[in-house]
Amino acid sequence: MFIFLAKRADEVREKLLSENRALKAQSKCLRCRRHDVCIAFLPCGHLVSCEGCSTDPSARKCFSCDAAVKARIKAFIS
Ligand SMILES: [Zn+2]
Ligand SMILES: [Zn+2]
Repeated sequence: MFIFLAKRADEVREKLLSENRALKAQSKCLRCRRHDVCIAFLPCGHLVSCEGCSTDPSARKCFSCDAAVKARIKAFIS
């Protein structure tokens, strides 16, 4: 992923930190892994699905924990 030998340690650390922040702010749908998550499943509360996948028949169960999905809420990440 990174070529550590070619980089100064503090440069590498800075890159890792910024990548970590990006990952936390925005994660991809667990089902298609292409679109950003924007639907939270209830009652488990997992925010793991994009809008398209949340209407798929396979979304009767949470993609993360397999709990039965009773409701879905649209979430906005700002
Ligand atoms: Zn998806
Ligand atoms: Zn879940």
